[in-house]
Amino acid sequence: MKIMAVNAGSSSLKFQLLEMPSEDVIASGLVERIGYYNAVFTLKMNGEKVSITQEILNHKEAVHLVTKGLIDHKIISSLDDIVGVGHRVVQGGEIFKNSAVINDKVIEQIKSLSDLAPLHNPANITGIEAFRKDLPDVPQIAVFDTTFHQTMTEDAFLYAAPYEWYQQYGVRKYGFHGTSHQFVSERAAVLLDNKKAKIIICHLGNGASLCAVDSGKSVDTSMGLTPLEGIPMGTRSGNIDPTVLMLISDKENKSYAEVLDDLNKRSGFLGVSGISNDSRDILREMENGNHRARLAHEIQVKRIADYIGSYYVYMGGLDAIIFTAGIGENESRVREAILNAVKVLGIEIDQEENQKRGERMITTKNSKVKAFIIPTNEEVMIAREVMRLK
Ligand code: ADP
Repeated sequence: MKIMAVNAGSSSLKFQLLEMPSEDVIASGLVERIGYYNAVFTLKMNGEKVSITQEILNHKEAVHLVTKGLIDHKIISSLDDIVGVGHRVVQGGEIFKNSAVINDKVIEQIKSLSDLAPLHNPANITGIEAFRKDLPDVPQIAVFDTTFHQTMTEDAFLYAAPYEWYQQYGVRKYGFHGTSHQFVSERAAVLLDNKKAKIIICHLGNGASLCAVDSGKSVDTSMGLTPLEGIPMGTRSGNIDPTVLMLISDKENKSYAEVLDDLNKRSGFLGVSGISNDSRDILREMENGNHRARLAHEIQVKRIADYIGSYYVYMGGLDAIIFTAGIGENESRVREAILNAVKVLGIEIDQEENQKRGERMITTKNSKVKAFIIPTNEEVMIAREVMRLK
């Protein structure tokens, strides 16, 4: 049974076609530069990759090209082979405490949350509408980045700001990367053979967030109203005193929106180092003796350790720290630095295992708190949700 997992951005469309329930990837691909004459459609299947550049004016054309590509390459014999489509939607607000079967009402509800995610929700909707047109009889499911964190209690999700802001405008912490945190925490519970485990997940990619999971439920997470809050990332500052907005706006004669753009796109690794948003460049330059590259790395590690300490206290204990996403899965030096920074919790790194890749434990048997690498897989999580709800 074939399920499609879709992630639509404002000018892109990423997808994976999975065989379920085996969870094997049959094909995957990407349409980039939608809206341009030189858009690129890349399709990967059976270890083969084909790429074409042509005009693709909108998501409807992109979806059509994808489905046609799958048929032309005999990955599916007709559209009827696809029995469900799962769509990643960034912001589910307080409306969606679960994934949802898409209908007109659900689309309106997702649109109504656009104030909270102006860059993401409208783009996600464009993808949903395009697939509904091409596959009108196939169940479509919305899977939200925020749902997993809807188990946080008020003490964890409210800001200490005027309560009316929450009541009237929905100003609160929502958290993101929920699909990844859920996938990884379910796997961690299996590896630990403990459904009640207390774990902290470090999803460290270009975007990065931490999540405290107690007995399978998210009890706190580092991202907030938007993905800007929390730890420093590739280009995002993470937590910062909001007064900075006013000061920089005055000094540089910028609007608040422009300063926010600096905090989202020109901060983090990129802003501190002045070199790159990519951890590989940061670590290489740090080892070449670049002070600002070292700072970019050290500030991130310190902030991550701050969160781990706070979540350890909040959960009243900790069984395991999990590393996932681009940096978490691939950068042994970052994992080592973080684990050393929280060594006081009783962590003993297994240096040899930490040098390797793929799912594994990277602490010794004697380590009081364990650490693991668990590769994330948001597409599989989306496909599982489609299977559950279709
Ligand atoms: P996102 O999905 O948030 O765009 P990723 O999870 O792909 O990001 O992570 C991107 C980050 O992971 C970059 O900083 C990059 O340096 C790092 N990264 C990705 N792949 C590797 C790798 N093979 N080795 C080392 N670092 C990697």
